[in-house]
Amino acid sequence: MVQPGNMMRMPLLINSILTHALESSADQEIVTALDDGSLHTYTYREFGRRVKDLAVGMGHRGLLPGHRVATLAWNTYRHLEIYYATAGIGAICHTVNPRLSREQIEFIINDAQDVVVFYDGHFAELVEQLEPRCPSVAHWVLLNEDADQDHAGMHYGAWLGNDVRNFEWLEFDEDTACGLCYTSGTTGAPKGTQYSHRSTVLHAYASSHPNALAISCSDAVMPLVPMFHVNAWGLPYSSLMSGAKIVLPGSNMQGERLYALCERAGVTLSAGVPTVWKGVLDHVESRALTFSTLQHIVIGGAACPPHMIASFRARNVTVRHAWGMTEVSPLGTVCQLLPKHASLPGDETLQVLASQGRPLFGARFKLVDEEGKRLPHDGVSTGHLMVQGNWVISHYYGKAEPATEDGWFRTGDVGSIDADGYMRITDRSKDVIKSGGEWISSIEIENIAMEEPGIELAACIAESSEKWGERPVLFVVPKPDGCLSAEQILARYQGRVAKWSIPDKVVFIERMPMTATGKIQKAALRSLPLPTKPQ
Ligand code: ADP
Repeated sequence: MVQPGNMMRMPLLINSILTHALESSADQEIVTALDDGSLHTYTYREFGRRVKDLAVGMGHRGLLPGHRVATLAWNTYRHLEIYYATAGIGAICHTVNPRLSREQIEFIINDAQDVVVFYDGHFAELVEQLEPRCPSVAHWVLLNEDADQDHAGMHYGAWLGNDVRNFEWLEFDEDTACGLCYTSGTTGAPKGTQYSHRSTVLHAYASSHPNALAISCSDAVMPLVPMFHVNAWGLPYSSLMSGAKIVLPGSNMQGERLYALCERAGVTLSAGVPTVWKGVLDHVESRALTFSTLQHIVIGGAACPPHMIASFRARNVTVRHAWGMTEVSPLGTVCQLLPKHASLPGDETLQVLASQGRPLFGARFKLVDEEGKRLPHDGVSTGHLMVQGNWVISHYYGKAEPATEDGWFRTGDVGSIDADGYMRITDRSKDVIKSGGEWISSIEIENIAMEEPGIELAACIAESSEKWGERPVLFVVPKPDGCLSAEQILARYQGRVAKWSIPDKVVFIERMPMTATGKIQKAALRSLPLPTKPQ
């Protein structure tokens, strides 16, 4: 008969991350780049004191366990304080993406029934429009501590300055909700993913593992991925758990500024979407700069083109390509090489590194065909990717029906998995191009186009075709000074992909439509007029 173990059970709570960080790394620093170009620096010790102070202030204003506390904010120390204070009192930190449309933000705040909104001054105009439309919100709090008397009670400083001497963190069940993030609503109304203390702590453990982001107390971690989208990939938790220095970029995400911050704050590890890294790389390449402290970067949220991985490697920066999504907290896989890859030639190594990588312990993947039948993990079979795990969604916020099928969540992505567990995403299922019965990977077509030095950005979508069902069309934003022809671009595909995968048309556009999370908005490309003749 099975026997119970005889070990203690401590709930996996976010305040335990803070307590651990304060008991073992109190002198570690948290640095924030402010709008005026200066740096705000304080220690974990001061951070922990202010988190408690804020938690007491929240209690004074009637915030209770289960209340939703929204933020419209950049990556700053105050945002981090709100993350921890909210979770610490059993409330739910609802990070709202300020780049969404006003209508979507209004929908999200009302759907979540937020009671407080903490907002950065940059969003004051937006807040003015939202205030009359969001009746559940009792407090709109400007993230400023020197607001004048007119703002008393409405600015962050007024929530601080409390007596924290008798304050103790509450103990509650580890399945209690702590965070809420909505999908960006590219398909229908945005839907909320509600994270628990348990899922968040386990995700932080797993994502700091050496096979994943490998965060240690020697690192200075700069999350370029916003704290308003999927908890900045969990870095606010995993960094504190590891006792790492944290460097927060604030509101200015220009490549030049980010490079300077990296150098000034001694950043060793950073993470963001490919478009943000492209800005950094363009700056570094155009001035032949080097990174003096940066060692590893994590690129994810969209496929990372191999040439970007190669450019960073040439500058002694290792790229860890990662796959994730809002519903998966977000990390599911991270790419690192195995010992057997050491003898591979350079371009084959790059091919491995350009895959989305292997699963974190605690997340499992499977591939299924159209009928839901399991496909082998042979690196060749391509199917729909399903995931299950400790930090994978079970239900969308406020919905009774499960978000899963037989205990698995359908990611909406299509790809393959090999025998070592390396996952390779070929597309989102709605972006797959089906031509004459064959699947064409838009990611593969885009990656090849992006090797062309004169191309700023490229995206491939399907055009319907009577003969073939669908045919690939490539949209290209050329670099300002480049002179580029469609023939020149298409020549790159010769011998690299099957003939039928080569795009029929190349369409030059001035600007690429982007989503609120910095990804290419293919739905908007589909509505653009196309030339009738193939190129
Ligand atoms: P949204 O893009 O709708 O805001 P998410 O941020 O949750 O929502 O995006 C998740 C999706 O992003 C995944 O389902 C996948 O299609 C895509 N994605 C994330 N990481 C990668 C990656 N490394 N390579 C390719 N696609 C990725």
